[in-house]
Amino acid sequence: MSLFTIVDKGTCIACGVCGVACPLVFDYDLDGLSEVIIDENQGIKQIPESLQDDVMDAYESCPSASIKICKKPFNGNPNKYE
Ligand code: SF4
Repeated sequence: MSLFTIVDKGTCIACGVCGVACPLVFDYDLDGLSEVIIDENQGIKQIPESLQDDVMDAYESCPSASIKICKKPFNGNPNKYE
């Protein structure tokens, strides 16, 4: 399955949940805000199949709905498909 993800840092509340659910995809900047580390939070690199379940766990656990997922790339815009 094709899957891309990006964090809307404008709504992230730095709760730390996503980095626990999927540390190979999500990490935090100096302000504690989450970002996708595989493509500098651009949402342009496909999530490997082996990490997709963990990304879905993070997506479903995010309390502020800041993690976006799509079958198509985001090209740096977390609101591209809203
Ligand atoms: S789970 Fe959501 S709110 Fe919490 S750090 Fe990750 S993106 Fe931010």
